Amino acid sequence: MAIRLFNTMSRKIEEFKPLTAGKMGFYSCGPTVYHYAHIGNLKTMVHNDILKRMFIENGYDVRHVMNITDVGHLTTDEDDSGEDKMEKGAARDGKSVWDIAEFYLGEFLRDYDDLNIMRPTVMPRATDYIAEQIDLIKKLEKLGFTYEIAGDGIYYDTSKFAAYGALTGGSLSGNRAGARVEYNDAKHNPTDFALWKFSPTDKHRQMEWDSPWGIGFPGWHLECSAMSMKLLGDHFDVHTGGEDLSRIHHTNEIAQSEPVVGAPWVSYWVHFGFLVDKSGEKMSKSKGEFLGLDALRNRGFDPMAYRYWILSGHYQSQMAFSFDALESAATAYKNIVRRVADILRDGSGNVDSDKYGSWHDKMLVTISDNMKTAETLVLVREMLRDADTNNATRVKILEFVDRLLGLQLISRARALIDSESDAAPAEVVALSDARTAAKVARDFARADELRAQIDALGWSVVDTRDGAKLVKKA
Ligand code: AMP
Ligand code: ZN
Repeated sequence: MAIRLFNTMSRKIEEFKPLTAGKMGFYSCGPTVYHYAHIGNLKTMVHNDILKRMFIENGYDVRHVMNITDVGHLTTDEDDSGEDKMEKGAARDGKSVWDIAEFYLGEFLRDYDDLNIMRPTVMPRATDYIAEQIDLIKKLEKLGFTYEIAGDGIYYDTSKFAAYGALTGGSLSGNRAGARVEYNDAKHNPTDFALWKFSPTDKHRQMEWDSPWGIGFPGWHLECSAMSMKLLGDHFDVHTGGEDLSRIHHTNEIAQSEPVVGAPWVSYWVHFGFLVDKSGEKMSKSKGEFLGLDALRNRGFDPMAYRYWILSGHYQSQMAFSFDALESAATAYKNIVRRVADILRDGSGNVDSDKYGSWHDKMLVTISDNMKTAETLVLVREMLRDADTNNATRVKILEFVDRLLGLQLISRARALIDSESDAAPAEVVALSDARTAAKVARDFARADELRAQIDALGWSVVDTRDGAKLVKKA
């Protein structure tokens, strides 16, 4: 199927054309591991996951790289000032920078798994690619893009890069007026940014490295350019991130990369809308109060309900989070799981391959058109209701839906069947066991007789891949 995506660079929905037939190289800006991920970060990760699944179901071999930022991300991106977020997080937790990186990465991956997000092919850490980052600065230095601010660092001169700011529609020189932070007067242009920051002389940094310019650490933007080039090649297909990243971080990544590898460095830039609160405020780790996935778990929400809620919106739009909205999504999700459980219990008919093909294609065409997840969910619900689709066919379509949307409908429905089955009284369980034994002995008449007895007691026996299950009749 044709895949169409909104490309931030062209500000248009474009048909995807891979650099190499059948392959898709994909880089996503990952978490800065100085704190727990909030549900806004996780929204972005769910969109990454859908993007990836959409390509896989379209037959692409996807190589996904997502970085882990464990150094260099300062509290004020706009002006390369403020503290290193990692050092700040370490001081807050009373641990070393390396320890908090390990701890929050572990927590992040727990959330990642609970939301059924496929792990990236490679998850490089910035601190493991210091040599590559230094190398990239050297190349930029050779090409004349850098200058030094004494006692501060090596800076990128944005006036040297004619296409600077193209991602957000032109020059960013007007940014200074809107900047919330004090302007660093030593910079040649307001938009210039640090490639290498020198370690302070009055304070000890836990993470620092030697370089041709002096001891220090890389600027945050640098890691993504250096690691993506190393792990995906000089040019790759798709680069993603939350919508906040286009104006500065991705703009600077392009400025660092294109002079070295040639333009366009990346074919498609895909940005995801923010999770905001009711007043439209962005959820952010640095703003103190934020909701992690634990806050949802602690209120009894299944992480899958959160995933379902995200899929009910469009990736380009912001979504306003509220527990009421999540509650409605949780109810809708549970209803679908209940319906899937009924289908699994019955499972009758033979797979109708024409019907399967037509639902499969309809869903894949819909999602491939700029990742229309909400419309794909509408088709899933339609398919569950459609009287012309038998249950065996529905099960096969649901297997595809689970691969595409990662909503774990079948495994959740099986768990529901199991939980209802557990509650059967001893007499019914004994009859069911006797029936299983009769079936093993190929005494099907006896097995049918026992099924009738179970039925008469208000229970149904369902044969599943994992054996007989008992379900209370409605
Ligand atoms: P961070 O860990 O804050 O560096 O961010 C990791 C990813 O989450 C980046 O792609 C951000 O753009 C994205 N992100 C940050 N805040 C939000 C939010 N409120 N909603 C959606 N995505 C976000
Ligand atoms: Zn990045």
